[in-house]
Amino acid sequence: MNPLAKFGRNDRCWCGTSKKYKDCHGGLRAGSVPGEPIGQEDDESWIWLSPTQRVARSGMHVPDGVPFTMPTGRPEARPVEVPPDIQALLAAPTPATTLPLSVLGKHRFDLYDHTERDRDALAESVAGIAVAVMDALTALSHLPEPRPTVLWNDEVDPGRLVGQTLLFADHVCVPDRVFAALVSGRDDDTVREAISEQRQLRPLIEAGLVVPVPKALGVAAQATAVNNLTERDLRRRDLTNWVRTQLLVEGPTAREAMFITALDDHERWPHMWMYSRHIQVQTGPDGETILTSRLFGTYDPTHDYGPWREQNLDKAVGAYLRRANERLVTGEVFTAGYLTTSPFQARLLARKGTLPDQPAHAAVWADIPILPAADPATLARAAAEEEAVEDLRHKVRSAMRGARDLGTRADALTGLGQDLAHAGRQLERTIRTERRWNAIAPAIGGIATIALGAAGGPAAITAGALGAATALTPYFATRANRRRNAAYLFYLASRR
Ligand SMILES: [Zn+2]
Repeated sequence: MNPLAKFGRNDRCWCGTSKKYKDCHGGLRAGSVPGEPIGQEDDESWIWLSPTQRVARSGMHVPDGVPFTMPTGRPEARPVEVPPDIQALLAAPTPATTLPLSVLGKHRFDLYDHTERDRDALAESVAGIAVAVMDALTALSHLPEPRPTVLWNDEVDPGRLVGQTLLFADHVCVPDRVFAALVSGRDDDTVREAISEQRQLRPLIEAGLVVPVPKALGVAAQATAVNNLTERDLRRRDLTNWVRTQLLVEGPTAREAMFITALDDHERWPHMWMYSRHIQVQTGPDGETILTSRLFGTYDPTHDYGPWREQNLDKAVGAYLRRANERLVTGEVFTAGYLTTSPFQARLLARKGTLPDQPAHAAVWADIPILPAADPATLARAAAEEEAVEDLRHKVRSAMRGARDLGTRADALTGLGQDLAHAGRQLERTIRTERRWNAIAPAIGGIATIALGAAGGPAAITAGALGAATALTPYFATRANRRRNAAYLFYLASRR
């Protein structure tokens, strides 16, 4: 089913079950009632804040320099602030020579080998790579058509994502967690962990398929754009009201914390925004204003938490809108299409784009995962060697170009479904017949089934500019009962 389609609470859920939305994804309720006892023992490393949420003691600190803001009584978002380190990097001159992403990938691990033990040297190396990667991606966007397809995503495990987009993307940009850990001054263990995470993806990074990008640098490069877009979104009552209807709230908990997440994302991403700073405004005996700030106080059943709850909802609405804009704009900086796997996020972006002055968005709903369980080395090899992959990428490139052109190229996109099915069959044949693939196959759980699933059945992918969505209804309908195949929502969005 198409999660972007309009559906009411009594319609069948977008996920394809036979249940109504309100009884399925839209029916999730908060994990606890206000003030409910926590019922779990704290220990040295964790503190329970609600029956379902705990926080690491080491994570309980307020960052320096966080400005104190008064609630405004309407949805709000903190503007993006660019730290001085990032500002300095942004001003760094572009490298004299543009290096290919694969060369930068190899270079990255050489640098880790040589500088891992020396934090300053490491920081300098990683900053240098970050600037060079931005330069390389910019260079890609200046290539003549057909240009490589570059996707950007910060939600999903990169190895798995490449397995599922192998046929779609030439490059998949993911956040560079080493850069992030160094910039935010995290401890050496965190930095080392981030490096070892990247080492696991080494074949993909060295092939230039996975491209770790400095997310903070991307946001900072267009901080004003993010702030302006967010301000504009916050003025749209239709948008802010809709986001509010999509929120799932837990709390106030026994420790005066509140957790908020988007309803449809709760199952797949059990992360929630946490709110705790609780500001009470009172008037003193001489008419002066008294502000009381509470952090993790004990739940007080006689206190009216209503206004605080509203403030937190306002902040959550702002946080979701700002995050969506950060993701969009970051993609733009890295010359990549932003890809989301979250139905909530995709719907939010679709709604953002309904004003006449908003840009064209293209949605591609795909349910043919290719080698999602393969290890990084296998994926890198398949991408480099398989003719089927290259052939298909070629088709995807032209179809995606069409998708950006609102409403006019829906035919080309629906044709992509057949092409993908065909190429999927080709890849499956290779896997079955070639000796080297036979050798690999037993080691990769479920590869044949997944490839078969990809090849079988009707056109497995349809796509359309949102303006032409009604023309695609029959295609979506044929897939309604096929949701067991991992579904992927590509939401490619751009700002013009
Ligand atoms: Zn559902």
